[in-house]
Amino acid sequence: MPLPSQPLILTGGCSCGAIRYRIAVPESSSRPPVPFFPDGHDPMPNPVSCHCNDCRRATASLLPVIFLQCPAPMVTVSVLEESPDEQGNGQQQHGGRFVDVLAEGYDQVATDAKRPPYLPAVDVLRASSTSTSTGTQDNAAKKTWLRFYHSTSCSPTASRTFCGRCGTQVAFHMALEPWHCTSGKLPDSFSDIIDINGGTFDRDVLDQEGWLDPGVEVNFRSGTALGKKVAASAKGMGHVPKMYGFVAAEGVATKEELERLAQ
Ligand SMILES: [Zn+2]
Ligand SMILES: [Zn+2]
Repeated sequence: MPLPSQPLILTGGCSCGAIRYRIAVPESSSRPPVPFFPDGHDPMPNPVSCHCNDCRRATASLLPVIFLQCPAPMVTVSVLEESPDEQGNGQQQHGGRFVDVLAEGYDQVATDAKRPPYLPAVDVLRASSTSTSTGTQDNAAKKTWLRFYHSTSCSPTASRTFCGRCGTQVAFHMALEPWHCTSGKLPDSFSDIIDINGGTFDRDVLDQEGWLDPGVEVNFRSGTALGKKVAASAKGMGHVPKMYGFVAAEGVATKEELERLAQ
């Protein structure tokens, strides 16, 4: 089952808790369509499985990664400032690996009250020379644990975000261009996409049956032998379209190819 139709909040973050995010998903009638897939009818946020070499290296995942493609306005992010005293106990209050967010008695409201505020992702996860938590003048001097990288270019229009403390790859940001969109123009309600790496969601999200099942697998041509074999033979995933590139115009894996891989 895909995401339920009612409004919901999805949460997650890096392994150590320095980066936490929330995705405020509106009711289904208010979810915009995916701008760059051929049919354009799937609503966002939408789970995608990607076989590309960049996702593989960045996440160190031999199998294709799954990420949730979100319009940037749905996402807010809270990032701890880099502390010169990382040995102190003060960091443990912020959650993450040391105080697991699903541990018995975990109080998300109380924990979040001790964190830096959740700010619009487009302000936080857009690579810049300052990498601050807010981008405002007041906080421009504060250095957070956010780090930015992308194998082909790291710029305010395309970058990966990872935690400088624990190394978790959290998200990929891209600024949409009209040529990305099947309609040839930008969506009305957003111009930036935030791909949240699926493995960073809190367990209560991941434990929901079907919420992160991808509706499409992209860059199948670039997949590893094992990745393609698993994708072709995985129970319940055989029917999911496997596009050779990022768009269907580049071709879709044939039934014969998938059957051969699944043997
Ligand atoms: Zn971290
Ligand atoms: Zn990829």
